[in-house]
Amino acid sequence: MKILVMGPPGAGKGSQSAKIVDSYKIPSISTGQMFRNAYEDNEPIGIEAMKYIKNGELVSDEITNELVRLRLQKNDTERSFLLDGYPRTVTQAVALDGMLKKMGTDLSAVINILSSNDVLFERMEARRVCKECGATYHLVFKKPVVEGVCDKCSGELYQRADDTLESVKRRLEIYETKTKPLLDYYDKKGILYNINGMQSFDKVYADIELVLRDL
Ligand code: ADP
Ligand code: ADP
Ligand code: ZN
Repeated sequence: MKILVMGPPGAGKGSQSAKIVDSYKIPSISTGQMFRNAYEDNEPIGIEAMKYIKNGELVSDEITNELVRLRLQKNDTERSFLLDGYPRTVTQAVALDGMLKKMGTDLSAVINILSSNDVLFERMEARRVCKECGATYHLVFKKPVVEGVCDKCSGELYQRADDTLESVKRRLEIYETKTKPLLDYYDKKGILYNINGMQSFDKVYADIELVLRDL
């Protein structure tokens, strides 16, 4: 099972990806999470990437492709993997096709989570993330048991530097212009599945499972 999870910022990619990798026991490759981890660990690539991330801009295709290329070289991705938030540009999609071709494989499905902009703004404003493990919460819909503390690892919850109004606006613009064209690219390959993201966490997941079980 080699799948991509796509959708605008705040659609629920990270939340649903966490559930998928947990139940199917497959490795997750989230470029956003990898950049945030590298930043937390003071790695040069993380510090460079955060300059773009905090303003809602994309990190360069070059840096991002290289990050994914190195990650896909690890043995655990041979049979299955889930890509969350990559590719985000046509250049990245073409680069990914090249990497997969070299591995002698291809994507099984692209799960595209859809949502209205109103819902996206609301979700990102109320999103909180664990500094330690990256788990995602929502101040209303997915509250931690203890305020400000991660249920899973007791790490500190924070608001992402790019979940500000200005940055969210910019990310949505970029999604429209740079990422949306990819949907056509995958639709033409016949592997695109649209999922309504404006439902409960469980309902969204149930709809995704209907797609995955037939792969
Ligand atoms: P993405 O990775 O696409 O940016 P996230 O999974 O981080 O999205 O979700 C964005 C925010 O919305 C988080 O606070 C998350 O808890 C919340 N959220 C995600 N899916 C739902 C849902 N189906 N219902 C309510 N809140 C949701
Ligand atoms: P969201 O879907 O909520 O925007 P992500 O964690 O997927 O969150 O991405 C956060 C930020 O990390 C993006 O706005 C962008 O700056 C950077 N990023 C993540 N993935 C990519 C990518 N494939 N190409 C370029 N930049 C990326
Ligand atoms: Zn945690």
